Amino acid sequence: MTRINSTALALLQQRCPRCHEGPLFSYSAANPVRFAEMPAHCPVCGQAYEPEPGFYWGAMFISYAFSTAIMLVTGFLVYYLFHDPAVWVYVTSVAALAVLLTPLSLRYSRTLMLYWFGGVHYQPRPAGTH
Ligand SMILES: [Zn+2]
Repeated sequence: MTRINSTALALLQQRCPRCHEGPLFSYSAANPVRFAEMPAHCPVCGQAYEPEPGFYWGAMFISYAFSTAIMLVTGFLVYYLFHDPAVWVYVTSVAALAVLLTPLSLRYSRTLMLYWFGGVHYQPRPAGTH
């Protein structure tokens, strides 16, 4: 696996916060059933992905912020692109986009939770230890 030195890039690519190599999720975000499954530990460095039981409850608040942002942006886009259409157009487009983006919202909220509150810091492995 490729090492990413930038913490921001590792976060965007949903990699382990400690080694920046191991994936945080077992399956693709496009998998409609298993998109939320995470391995218990990093397959590269062994870092535990759930620091304590119930750790990801806090990610619910981050996900709430993502959902609110998605709904506001969609509402404004519909207003400007379709020149203030009927209410059902707003409701349908906001609901559809919120549902479609649920995997990304859930995964990035968990990733942010682990990076911000997991107490894990980047520890690059020495070169040649692959
Ligand atoms: Zn790791």
